[in-house]
Amino acid sequence: MTELFELLQSSPPAFTGVCAVLGLMVGSFLNVVIHRLPKMMELGWQQQCAELRGEQPSEMPRYNLLVPRSACPHCNHAIGAMENIPVISYLLLRGKCKGCGAAISPRYPIIETISGVLSAYAAWHFGFGWAAAGALLLVWALLALTAIDFDTQLLPDDITLPLLWIGLLLNSFGTYTDLHSAVLGAIFGYLSLWSVYWLFKLATGKEGMGYGDFKLLAALGAWLGWQMLPLIILSSSFVGAVVGITLIVAARHGRNIPIPFGPYLAGGGLIALFWGTALTQGYLQLLAAP
Ligand SMILES: [Zn+2]
Repeated sequence: MTELFELLQSSPPAFTGVCAVLGLMVGSFLNVVIHRLPKMMELGWQQQCAELRGEQPSEMPRYNLLVPRSACPHCNHAIGAMENIPVISYLLLRGKCKGCGAAISPRYPIIETISGVLSAYAAWHFGFGWAAAGALLLVWALLALTAIDFDTQLLPDDITLPLLWIGLLLNSFGTYTDLHSAVLGAIFGYLSLWSVYWLFKLATGKEGMGYGDFKLLAALGAWLGWQMLPLIILSSSFVGAVVGITLIVAARHGRNIPIPFGPYLAGGGLIALFWGTALTQGYLQLLAAP
C-alpha cells in the first residue's frame, strides 16, 4: 500500500491514469445519482405532504442510491457487472440492452467520459495531494448538479450544503485559500445572487433563478475564496448569455421558459478552480500596467 502511494506521489502520469479510471467509475455512479436523487427528493416530499394531511405513511418499496439494483427501464433486465463497465460496456453492447435490445441513452457514457477526463485533468493539474483529492470531489459534485439542474431545474441541498462545509473544512488547512477568504466567499456568494434575485423580482415580478443557485455560489465561494466570485459570476453569465441567446435565436426555447443557471455556475466554478489564480493575476497585472 505504501509502495502504491509512493508510486502515485513520484509519477504524475501514474497518478493521472489512476484518477482517470477512478473518474470513469465514479461517473458510472454519478449516472445513478443524477437519475435517482430527484426521484428520492420527490418521494420524500410526497411522504411529508401525506404526514401533514395526517395520513398514515404508506409502505413504499425502498428506493435509494443502492436499492433497487440497476435494471433496464424497458424490460427490467438486471444489469450485471460485465454490462456496467464505464463506456466500454456501452461500446461492446453497441448502445443496446442485452435483454430487449432497447437503445441505452448515450448520456451514460458521455457523463462517464466527462468525469474521466475532468478527473484526469484535476490530477495532472494539482498533482498528488489533498488539493487533487478535493478537486476530484468538487468536479464530481458539479457534474451531478449540472445534469440534475438541466433535467429538473433543481440543485439538491443534499449536494450543495455538504459541498459548502467540505470547502470550509479543506480551507481550514489552507488547501485552496485561507479560511478567512473562504468564510467571506460563502457569505458573499450567497448574498450576491440573493440580492440579484430580489432586485430582479421587485423590478419584473419574475423569478430569474432559485435558492439552489445561491447555495451553489456560496459553496464555490467556500472552496475558492471571495476573490474568485467576480470571475465565477462573469464567466458563468458570459457562457449563459451565449447559450441563452443561441437558444432563443434558434427559436427552440421560448423567452419565458426558465434556463437553469446551475450548469453555468458549475462551469464558472471549474474555470476558477483550474485557472482562477492565473486569470485574476493576469487581470490585476493588466490594471497595474502603466
Ligand atoms: Zn431491456
